[in-house]
Amino acid sequence: MKIDIRWTNSLCRKAGLSLAALLLFVIALSTAVSKSRASDENDSSSAAESSSQAPVIKYDTRYEQMNNSAFEENSGLLALDSKDSRYASEGTDFDSIYPYLFNDKGDQIMTTSSTSVCGEKEMLTQLNKMVSDFSAQTGLKTIMVRNASFKTNDKLYPSQFDVEDKKDEKTAVTDKGTVSSDGCYEHLSGLAVDLQLYEADKGAYPQFTGEGQYSWIVENCYKYGFVQRYTAAKQQVTGVEAKADHFRYVGRVFAKIMHDNDLALEEIYAFLQKYSYEQPLSVILDDGSEHIAYCVKADKEKSGTTIPVPSQPDGSSTEYCATGVGDGILYVCAGVPSGTQPRQDQQTTQTQPEKTE
Ligand SMILES: [Zn+2]
Repeated sequence: MKIDIRWTNSLCRKAGLSLAALLLFVIALSTAVSKSRASDENDSSSAAESSSQAPVIKYDTRYEQMNNSAFEENSGLLALDSKDSRYASEGTDFDSIYPYLFNDKGDQIMTTSSTSVCGEKEMLTQLNKMVSDFSAQTGLKTIMVRNASFKTNDKLYPSQFDVEDKKDEKTAVTDKGTVSSDGCYEHLSGLAVDLQLYEADKGAYPQFTGEGQYSWIVENCYKYGFVQRYTAAKQQVTGVEAKADHFRYVGRVFAKIMHDNDLALEEIYAFLQKYSYEQPLSVILDDGSEHIAYCVKADKEKSGTTIPVPSQPDGSSTEYCATGVGDGILYVCAGVPSGTQPRQDQQTTQTQPEKTE
């Protein structure tokens, strides 16, 4: 059986609604307990304390069986596309950007260079939320998505300038068609976007530099699952010169970890390898929701490996994502069931040994 990481991602979204209901309860609780941990979206000072301790596991465990081939795939939210590491797939849950250009009131809050710009639905949904909130905060509707993935005649390209009959428009050479002609990797994944500005009143298309009011996006993007992928500070690590306009979607949990610990994508794998299901990294998102992140190594003795994930009181798994870079390890993030009491039944005690290193 082949694991479908996209499926688990879409499961994340389905589970989101019921989790949201639980969250209201948790937020009410945590406000009463600790007023300083209220969900003040703009207070970044409390962000750093959230992803540092190993929590005591209080929930039951459910086991998801995965084929070991999943551990050797460079795909999913943490897939690494670089000059040395190619993305394994072109994604399966793509959508045109067009419906995501509007907020929930139907007002257009951003534009695009082409309606053939497309990406993973989960990424586009979070991009829409981010730009909606940015627009509500600043009154600006000037964000333009210049580039994400580009689909024409059912063929996917890293940008519109890489479409075969348009390649002459830019002189930059593409590397096997997987590097965008503006020098970005990972556009084929459907998880990356390049932003630009469109000032309709002036008919101008300024670059997105992340300065002035646009610093809101740079500072808050992690809350929506995005990271500024290529920064000057991490140029030695990424090997790509700083690109203020290129954002990569890794999901909210991994983005929070990267933000709080100042990690480039290249650095998160070694960082997460310190954590196991028994001693996971606790991650509290800015909306108060609790998650854990941990690694599971492939069981080389068998063709499949079981992935432990927290279980809801009804026995179903919480929302979780398992992604890999093809190094025999799956990097997992999972929601923590809210309001569950410690359980000491046979499964819990068997499967959650109190490991001390
Ligand atoms: Zn880019």
